[in-house]
Amino acid sequence: MFRINDNFTKLPASYLFSEVARRVKVYTESNPGTDIIRMGIGDVTRPLCPAVVEALHAAVDEEAKGESFHGYGPEQGYGFLSEKIAEFDYRSRGIDIGTDEIFISDGAKSDTGNIGDILSTANRVAVTDPVYPVYVDTNVMGGRAGELGEDGRWSKIEYLPCTAENSFVPALPVNNPDVIYLCYPNNPTGTTLTRAQLKVWVDYCREHGALLLFDAAYEAYIREDDVPHSIYEIEGAKEVAIEFRSYSKTAGFTGIRLGYTVVPKELKGVDEAGRSVALNGLWRRRQTTKFNGASYLTQRGAEALYTPEGQRQVKESIDYYLENARMLRVGLAEAGYEVVGGVNSPYVWLKTPDGMSSWKFFDHLLERYHIVGTPGSGFGPSGEGYFRLTAFNTHENTRRCVDRLTGKS
Ligand code: PLP
Repeated sequence: MFRINDNFTKLPASYLFSEVARRVKVYTESNPGTDIIRMGIGDVTRPLCPAVVEALHAAVDEEAKGESFHGYGPEQGYGFLSEKIAEFDYRSRGIDIGTDEIFISDGAKSDTGNIGDILSTANRVAVTDPVYPVYVDTNVMGGRAGELGEDGRWSKIEYLPCTAENSFVPALPVNNPDVIYLCYPNNPTGTTLTRAQLKVWVDYCREHGALLLFDAAYEAYIREDDVPHSIYEIEGAKEVAIEFRSYSKTAGFTGIRLGYTVVPKELKGVDEAGRSVALNGLWRRRQTTKFNGASYLTQRGAEALYTPEGQRQVKESIDYYLENARMLRVGLAEAGYEVVGGVNSPYVWLKTPDGMSSWKFFDHLLERYHIVGTPGSGFGPSGEGYFRLTAFNTHENTRRCVDRLTGKS
């Protein structure tokens, strides 16, 4: 009989959002008609901006005619988009990234998950804790995680706690990991690292021969000057870091799907024989073999984001979410909560009062205020005692949520 990949059976059921839904259902069934405000939304809610919609329509019309129809496209993405990315997302910030270092894809979830394909299963991995669960789960699937302990930690993964005790700034690892995942602005905490703080990580990776996997999915939310938009703003980062970007939270592409990954040519690892090998060629080989390329339509849609109208419209949408984040942050602080995030991020992370567990606080918020959020413990052991609210609801609902929490309604 054939064998399955046993690593998959090690993964516990992912129960965070289904348990949230179950508890809300139980509550509404016994309290019908309750006006519940959902502040746990992890998806954007505003529609695609007009510049994108127009470009999508035009691209559909092209596909309707024989002379302008597109079939299979380049697996690494069309030049018309990678040129815009290189120019607007990098060169305009003084970073020299070539179009052949940009790999357009269907999103950062796929790329952060698939990157393990080109890395040895012998690599030791470090993640910040709490963390976007995809980094951990895909390393479990890849056989790099070891066994799950009763404390919720995988035996071979090094967890770098980010809590109020260290002001949400992870300490450098102690177990000499080969691969380190960082995500800034962070999901779930909404916190950022400054240029100087990120330099510590780039320097560490250069010194220790470690690979930095930098997830910049929330880059578009950065509003403060000392927070880098790209890891490549840090000197030497091209030799150690891969950067993941996404149009999901930037431009509402969660449904139509698009992102990209930068693999600089300078970035090299070693093979079993100790020879130096460039990751750029390996990722190109991986993508051209296993990925068909993102759709022509979506890439034309994304191209429109780099026009003056596109830039303005997208900024308007993000400013809308950031205003919600501001309302939440200020309102929660006024209600007496310890809160971080929500400045360069759509996420607000609060400490549960009186040492309440994350799930107990979930029930408390639901029963007392009819507000739904996400328990921090769902993002890792160090998320216990914390709670995530998001800025993706409307201004009106966000205001009502804050009013409930501050006792104004
Ligand atoms: N990375 C982080 C940190 C995220 O929070 C998310 C989505 O929630 C993603 C990546 C996924 O991005 P995409 O929609 O491009 O796959």
